[in-house]
Amino acid sequence: MVYRNSGSSFRQLVAGTDAKVPLANGKYVRGINFDNAATTPPLCAVLSEINQFAPWYASVHRGKGYKSIICSERYEQGREVVREFVNAGQQDVVIFTKNTTESINMLAYALAGERDQVVLTTDMEHLANDMPWRDKFTVDYIGLTKAGRLSLQSLESKLQLHAGKVKLVAVTGASNVTGYINPIAKIARLVHQYGAAIFVDGAQWVPHIAVNMRPPDAAEHIDYLAFSGHKMYAPFGTGVLIGPQAAFAKAVPVYQGGGAVGLVSQATIEWDAPPAKWEAGTPNMMGVLALITAIETLSKLNLNTIHRYEQHLIDYTIDGLRTIPGITLYSIRDGREARVSLVSFSLEGLHHSQVAEILSQQAGIAVRNGLFCAHPYVEKLLRLSAEEIKYYQTHDDKSLPGLVRVSFGLYNTINEIKIFLAILAHIAGHRQ
Ligand code: PLP
Repeated sequence: MVYRNSGSSFRQLVAGTDAKVPLANGKYVRGINFDNAATTPPLCAVLSEINQFAPWYASVHRGKGYKSIICSERYEQGREVVREFVNAGQQDVVIFTKNTTESINMLAYALAGERDQVVLTTDMEHLANDMPWRDKFTVDYIGLTKAGRLSLQSLESKLQLHAGKVKLVAVTGASNVTGYINPIAKIARLVHQYGAAIFVDGAQWVPHIAVNMRPPDAAEHIDYLAFSGHKMYAPFGTGVLIGPQAAFAKAVPVYQGGGAVGLVSQATIEWDAPPAKWEAGTPNMMGVLALITAIETLSKLNLNTIHRYEQHLIDYTIDGLRTIPGITLYSIRDGREARVSLVSFSLEGLHHSQVAEILSQQAGIAVRNGLFCAHPYVEKLLRLSAEEIKYYQTHDDKSLPGLVRVSFGLYNTINEIKIFLAILAHIAGHRQ
């Protein structure tokens, strides 16, 4: 599809896109937000729904008051909206959490059993899909190809190495460092062949591409999925964890208290069935309302249409970055591999924090820089030696290695990218 109009028709759907930010010279410009992989601004529909619903706000599952009943119904209906959005199975439960990190920690609690059971995760994960597994399972890491992608060969050899012991393969749907989309159907097929289950970290995947947990071929289904509302235009502190109800029935949940139980005496606890068992305490009603409104809005716009538009933005950016002297792109072979709308780069001779600072102070462009909570992956992409990593760890922040990342939302435009590329070319031209 050719986008003749360099603006985005999605732009008016998102709040705050015209906000002015100050530059180093004291002038104000319209801010350009290229840090959507960290968090996205709210959809106007989300804000409006929150406002409209406010008069009906009350506690969920706590009482017979009319407002409380309305809230409880809406909250429970939210689970069905999520289920439909990712085509979760009827045996799956949708548990509302705070964010993806909390979802993965909860899943680790739910699945923990024998310490020698293996969780295979990968060299390209966000720390949220690495650290929670470490103290409960034997963790091994699926390696990367030379280009920084997940190696299916490594996956298979790890499945063979730990045959019979692999409980779960925990893999990201899309990388928050390179944007690279993993071949989840292929991975799921392999994982299931070896009798293990697959968890997909959907934090960077679900907001950008249509996800189907139950594709027609059952061998390719996704057993567990997590994602965050604040990365998909619903920034009100909600996340989701989805998986088979039976998997959440046995373990004692992370959080314990009211809302998760039936009758409790000082000697006994009668747990509710999941999902309630994993949602102790008063739920984040407005957060769930925001999340389901965002999901309904994105579904109406159509995730395939959004993906195509964002692909156009990222292709344009990669083509532009390639023309700037001194830029190195990470995990790009031909520039047209399956990716979500983000890319990371470095500029020779300038520290990543300087690049980010100049972009912000000279042009009001917000990007992310550093290790993106994916330290092992960035270190591998930069091919740092163990000595170098040790050196950086013992020195001040300014010497820390890292990259610069730009990540787009559906409301970003080609005009914004043109401004970004022009200022970056200027910075590159004035390096010493
Ligand atoms: N997984 C990936 C791939 C991410 O990019 C992030 C956040 O950037 C997370 C997990 C953690 O998400 P949250 O901070 O919403 O818990």
